[in-house]
Amino acid sequence: MLILVANLGSTSFKYRLFRMDGNGGEVIAKGGYERVTDYAAVIDDALSALQRDGIIASPDEIEAVGFKTVLGKDLSGCVIAGQQVIAALEGFTAVAPAHNPPYAAGIRQFEKSLPDARLVALFETAFYQWTSAASAHYAIPKAWREIGIRRHGFHGASHKFIAERSAELCGREDVAKIARRLYQDGPLQVDGKPLRVVSCHLGGSSSVTGIRNGVAIGSSMGFSPQSGLPQNNRVGDLDAGAIPYAMRALGITLEEAERQLTKESGLLGLSGVSNDIRDIDAAAAAGNPDALLAIDAFIHSIRHWIGAFLIELGGLDSLVFTAGIGENRAATRAAVCKDLEAFGVHLDPAKNTACHATEAVISRDDSAVKIIVIPANEELVLAREIYRKLS
Ligand code: ADP
Repeated sequence: MLILVANLGSTSFKYRLFRMDGNGGEVIAKGGYERVTDYAAVIDDALSALQRDGIIASPDEIEAVGFKTVLGKDLSGCVIAGQQVIAALEGFTAVAPAHNPPYAAGIRQFEKSLPDARLVALFETAFYQWTSAASAHYAIPKAWREIGIRRHGFHGASHKFIAERSAELCGREDVAKIARRLYQDGPLQVDGKPLRVVSCHLGGSSSVTGIRNGVAIGSSMGFSPQSGLPQNNRVGDLDAGAIPYAMRALGITLEEAERQLTKESGLLGLSGVSNDIRDIDAAAAAGNPDALLAIDAFIHSIRHWIGAFLIELGGLDSLVFTAGIGENRAATRAAVCKDLEAFGVHLDPAKNTACHATEAVISRDDSAVKIIVIPANEELVLAREIYRKLS
């Protein structure tokens, strides 16, 4: 079965084409476009390119298209992407303004460009459907809960891949099997020792997720992708009292406050330099104190969440780094792991420095906690799930 996994950003379109069968699957083509203003044009161009390059004889060969949708109102899981999914995305446009409109537009466009393909959405919130009520709920009035305000958790496909792969690398095939089949079977009982993992997805947007026996117990991201760690240009966690105070003191509207918190905050807001940690690094090395503060605050927040999950999991067997910063930036990994020997976390500095965007164990051989770098592979999780749903 040929499955196209579409990754739609506010100004980008990336895709991977998978050939899937009962034994797994492989990527047979990938590509992408930046600075997109017209999704119809780039989607049709991608389909033509696949034909031109001889990957497919006709677009009709693509049986399914998968969408890594972020957040739906009253909807999660792996579902056929039709009107119900578009309505759920549009119901929460205000909560995920950078993410939901491109997916709604992309689904509509694929309905036209590939009318015979089956369209499937896997929501980023799906991995968190088994978190406890205590961890999912904010202390807000009932009426607020009834309009859907709760902790959701995001980057679900990425953290789910880490749940599977970290279990394999820890020699726990029993847990890996549960993680792989999670959306089919739900959480299953594990005989013997639990496997306790904290997954750090650190990239343009970042989150830390606690995972017990292949199942998420919670995430640093809550109601919206605006929460948790400082993001590239989005705020991360902020005291609810700060917004009305800033609006009154600065004389700004709600819309302007929202714009500043989603576009001019996070690493960009703190550093005043850039939303890319490489530029902030260079500025910090040149002595810019705000750049240094941005990096320190980012590390502080990552450690804060690792600490929260370490307690909730009752200890740790593996600490994993993934995504652009997690895979590439040894300095971030070293700073996160600093002085955690009392918790069994022993980084091997040489292995850490040598690791760039490859899978590697970077802890000392005698470290009780296995520290691992695992390249993100969200698309594979989608392709597998869509194959399972349709076959
Ligand atoms: P997203 O998919 O959320 O946009 P990525 O996972 O691709 O993000 O991560 C992008 C971020 O990773 C960039 O903003 C950059 O800060 C960081 N990054 C990418 N490559 C490197 C590198 N070689 N060294 C340090 N940081 C990097």
